[in-house]
Amino acid sequence: MSARILVVDDVPANVKLLEARLSAEYFDVMTASNGTEALAISRRAECDIILLDVMMPDMDGFEVCRRLKSDPATHHIPVVMVTALDSPADRNRGLEAGADDFLTKPVSDVVLIARVRSLTRLKMMTDELRMRAITSLEIGMQAPERSAVADTGKGGRILLVDDRESSYERLATILAAEHTVDVEPNPTEALFHAAEGNYDLLIVSLDLNNFDGLRLCSQARSLERTRHVPILAIAEPDNSTRLLRGLEIGVNDYLLRPIDKTELLARARTQIRRRRYTDHLRDNVQNSIEMAITDALTGLHNRRYMESHLATLAEQAATRGKPLALMILDIDYFKSINDNYGHDAGDDVLREFAVRVRKSIRGIDLACRYGGEEFVIVMPETDLHVAGMVAERLRRSIAGEPFAIHKGAKRIEVTISIGLTTLEQKGEAVADVLKRADTALYRAKHDGRNRVVSQAA
Ligand code: GH3
Ligand code: MG
Ligand code: MG
Repeated sequence: MSARILVVDDVPANVKLLEARLSAEYFDVMTASNGTEALAISRRAECDIILLDVMMPDMDGFEVCRRLKSDPATHHIPVVMVTALDSPADRNRGLEAGADDFLTKPVSDVVLIARVRSLTRLKMMTDELRMRAITSLEIGMQAPERSAVADTGKGGRILLVDDRESSYERLATILAAEHTVDVEPNPTEALFHAAEGNYDLLIVSLDLNNFDGLRLCSQARSLERTRHVPILAIAEPDNSTRLLRGLEIGVNDYLLRPIDKTELLARARTQIRRRRYTDHLRDNVQNSIEMAITDALTGLHNRRYMESHLATLAEQAATRGKPLALMILDIDYFKSINDNYGHDAGDDVLREFAVRVRKSIRGIDLACRYGGEEFVIVMPETDLHVAGMVAERLRRSIAGEPFAIHKGAKRIEVTISIGLTTLEQKGEAVADVLKRADTALYRAKHDGRNRVVSQAA
């Protein structure tokens, strides 16, 4: 996992120092000596993580960070501010600008590498999701970047795991100003609670009585329901070894006691915003997978899916020595439905047709919209005789009950013709099966429509 780190600093010696340390850990390092250069490199998507100096002439680090985080093209790149300033006010200015973390000069090697590693993991995961979600952008779904840039990070659901009353009462009160907070003082219950609650953020104290907070973090990382929930650890300042261990096992961020109110809120917002963004990406991936195989009007599978899946079904049938039936259904005189009642009425008929098809077939049957008003149904483990009965039942379910159009104001008669065939056992090409079904359909049309014609292989 070799990430590209962009080091931005106006002092060449600082750049050299960080470059040497990162290169020693096999990171690819790029450098920039001012904000403008850094923005250009980031926009060209050439870096995975940015280490950003605060004090620079012209544009300071806060401004660079603010611009990176408000640009949909760059907002997902983790930014670590590196600065000699270390008052809570400075840290908070950076966090408000959207920085993902803060390192104080002189930067400790161990902390630097641990942070960069953990942000690299996060960036790789986000990139993977972004890449898969690109498809959904291409088919015109809302860009997750746009809503992410607008997200305030407020209004999240937080589970706070802390067994010291004085501590959790204070933290919960602070957080409640911007989020919904549940407190779990019992660490043995915390994992169940976290898995049940659909939280946007877990805040875990690492100094629990008789319980290892890191164990809880690692369990949360391995459990399916909590795997993607960010974790913010809270630790005593003298506990840096445990914190580094925490970052290794997937803790996303940490705060040291005594907790600064503004910093707590800022870090919580950053984690929640990022969580929503990755969730959004994940949903988009899911949607684009479904959209890629589904016909939007009828909800049946589309032709592309049918063609790729039919080959698999045919192969299975052949190797198992089972029959496989296939029928093509075509609505009769559909063009005149459009012509007489309008295109919307035609669409209503197609939708209702799909509903009736679904009712007439089994779960293992594959129904798809093959083209305009043409449908294909594939029935595994079904011979010509049984398939003939199914087809006949389907034909009756269409012809026997008029279709509602114009929002139910009118009902019209619809009929279909069906061409039916089966797969030959000897590994016949699916294109030939489809052709035979089509020939049967043609005969059904020719013989007067509203009928089923079977064509044995
Ligand atoms: P036949 O009985 O021989 O099948 O005649 P037909 O009119 O059903 O067949 P034809 O292929 O001439 O016409 C099909 C029509 O289906 C033409 C096309 O405009 C219409 N069509 C295709 N897709 C859609 C759609 O998504 N919605 C609507 N409303 N009409 C569609
Ligand atoms: Mg400087
Ligand atoms: Mg037709």
